[in-house]
Amino acid sequence: MTKERPSFPLKLDALESKKNLANRTVQLFAPVQANHPLSKLQEQTVRSTKPSDLGLESASGVGLDSATVREHMVRKLAQQGITDNAVLGAMLKVERHRFVDTALVNQAYEDTSLPIGLGQTISKPNVVARMIELLRQGKSLNASGKLGRVLEIGTGCGYQAAVLSQLSTEVYSIERLRGLFVRAKENLRPLRIPNLHLLFGDGMLGYEKGAPYGGIIAAAGGENIPEHWLNQLAVGGRIVAPVETGERTQTLMVVDKTDDGFEKTYLEAVHFVPLKSGIN
Ligand code: SAH
Repeated sequence: MTKERPSFPLKLDALESKKNLANRTVQLFAPVQANHPLSKLQEQTVRSTKPSDLGLESASGVGLDSATVREHMVRKLAQQGITDNAVLGAMLKVERHRFVDTALVNQAYEDTSLPIGLGQTISKPNVVARMIELLRQGKSLNASGKLGRVLEIGTGCGYQAAVLSQLSTEVYSIERLRGLFVRAKENLRPLRIPNLHLLFGDGMLGYEKGAPYGGIIAAAGGENIPEHWLNQLAVGGRIVAPVETGERTQTLMVVDKTDDGFEKTYLEAVHFVPLKSGIN
């Protein structure tokens, strides 16, 4: 029996994304061999959006069960407007439940941010997908359709770093809280991702050794985009980061580095933990 998963084919638009999927039979995967583990997932009736009802908590079979719930999460992301199949494919693959506390496993695939300790949160799946999609819409995709070297500020539990590493040649992810740096290492160790480099340090300084970066993505919002990120970005590269635009408001910002300077675009309001300097 082959262990290979089918590539993420998917005409997600064929899922009639705007319609309510409850109580309908949907086909997410293109046909796969009858004996393939995924063949069981080809057709399924989705009657509930609650992970608990979709079987995630039956710990014995978390592998296949969580694949079902992830499909549901990915379908929802597509309905919410994420169109990049590479991003959807990476999020289908990375097991988000591995990155949250045991007590929160049942919420791992809901579109919600969750506490990861030390007052920090893992971003909502929709926000992760949106930011990586924006990063990929810059000018730095290489011939094989991947981002080149990417710097992530705010490793947190390591989830977004794992997703990014599916879509980039190298990922450098930096965290300023030692406790989370250690936790991310533990979460990621079993996944053995060779192109992901975890760093402990102040991400406001960037990471000079990995520069220049095709993409820089921040999971924490400061008053502005730090100078070091602008300097370490390659020409043609893109930064996607939240920035403070008011007393209690943050806006998602895209910065493209061109031959002539920087092009800045402000997008929707977002809510991230603060970008802080120094380590702890
Ligand atoms: N991408 C993460 C989200 C973590 S939340 C995930 O998938 O879980 C944002 C993280 O940014 C927090 O862990 C916080 O400690 C970290 N952070 C804030 N300021 C930072 C800085 N200057 N350098 C590195 N990490 C920083």
